[in-house]
Amino acid sequence: APTLYLVATPIGNLKEMTPRAIEILNEVDIIAAEDTRNTMKLLQAFDITTRCISHHLHNENESIHGIIKLLEEGKDIALVSDAGYPLISDPGEKLVNYVIEAGFNVVPVSGSSAVLNALVASGICTQPFLFYGFLDSGEGKRTKALIELKDLPYTIIFYEAPHRIEKMLKSCLEILGNRQICLARELTKKYEEFLRGTISEVLEVVDEIKGEMVVVVEATEKEKDIIPLSVLREKIDQYVDCG
Ligand code: SAM
Repeated sequence: APTLYLVATPIGNLKEMTPRAIEILNEVDIIAAEDTRNTMKLLQAFDITTRCISHHLHNENESIHGIIKLLEEGKDIALVSDAGYPLISDPGEKLVNYVIEAGFNVVPVSGSSAVLNALVASGICTQPFLFYGFLDSGEGKRTKALIELKDLPYTIIFYEAPHRIEKMLKSCLEILGNRQICLARELTKKYEEFLRGTISEVLEVVDEIKGEMVVVVEATEKEKDIIPLSVLREKIDQYVDCG
């Protein structure tokens, strides 16, 4: 049956392109890409010659119509974004809903995503977590969103652009308090780096950093369930003594 494949592409390191992703991009009839020029570069690197059409927020409605027509003609389509998974802070959500509604298959093809890479290396509790994506760049909306998140007992993950990181962290400090965070930068790339500390500690160095970044923020204090190592050792000692 005609299928829309959601193909994850590397978030930096080209070696994270999977054999399955290459196979599917070769085999589908058409690749719908967020930015065809960027995707062409990726395709060239893997000698993939499949035709590309564009699918982004500004042409979404016409493009959805076109893609559904192609599926009706029996064609298979792959959707890709510039990096990572489509739909994760990238276009594709509306398309997927229409394709499901029209009764066609939707198949995800795994790869890396900045959110999970950042979370697992953060040192911050991995479950439950809430992926927020980008906060609004306007202070009013950003503040409102942070107030809504403030008391949730979940690790929260944000995407942010380097030129907005300082303002964003200042808002977090003001509204969420001085929590532990991990700023994960340039994931999978040569200068990959993890800055771990309180928000105010990370703010001290943040004006010098560039590149793509993810911020992982620990959950609100009252729900934390970390047993200090000293207590844990005591417990283990007791257990060993009894045994
Ligand atoms: N679809 C992508 C995904 O699955 O992660 C996210 C696309 S979103 C438009 C771009 C944002 O993702 C960047 O501003 C940054 O916050 C994050 N990002 C993407 N690649 C990254 C990387 N290599 N290192 C750190 N953050 C990254």
